[in-house]
Formats: sequence, C-alpha cells, structure tokens
Amino acid sequence: MIRVLLRPLLGRTRRQLTCQRTVELVTDYLEGALPDRQRARFEAHLAGCVHCTRYLEQMGATIRALGHLEVASVPPEVLAELVTVYRRVRSDRRAGD
Ligand SMILES: [Zn+2]
Repeated sequence: MIRVLLRPLLGRTRRQLTCQRTVELVTDYLEGALPDRQRARFEAHLAGCVHCTRYLEQMGATIRALGHLEVASVPPEVLAELVTVYRRVRSDRRAGD
C-alpha cells in the first residue's frame, strides 16, 4: 500500500542529470567544488553512463598530465579539442603496443 503510493513520487524525485550537465560539472567534481547533493547526482549519473565515466577519466588524466588545468580560462571548443587530441594520442599509443 505504502509502496504503491510512493512509487510515482520516487520516480519524479530521482531526476537524472543529462550528459551535457554532467560534463559541465566534471571539472568542479575533480576540484572537489561540488556540493554534496550535486556530487551524489553526478556520481549516480556516472554509475549508469559509460560516456561520462570515460570523459571523467580523460579529464582527470589530462589534469594530472598538465599538473593543473585552468578550465575557466579555456574556451569550450579548445577544451573539446584537447580531449580529442588526448584521445587520439592515447589510442595511437595503444596501437603501437
Ligand atoms: Zn552521461
């Protein structure tokens, strides 16, 4: 009885982040700048999304490689290019193995 009443409520409150929103939050997440609630939603999205998980890994690796990344000062298209280049370098390296 209670379950039946709760089901529609749960369905509505468990709103998933979109991939675009998740990608936007990656740098904040890596910097530990996300509020707990948002981080929980971010991680919930990652748990079910291979693409965003991979993106997060690559951003983390890129930031480690550069020491740090001033994301705020990098235009989105440059950032996208950086990720593309990084992806290419990585797959080239793997192909050479
Ligand atoms: Zn996603």
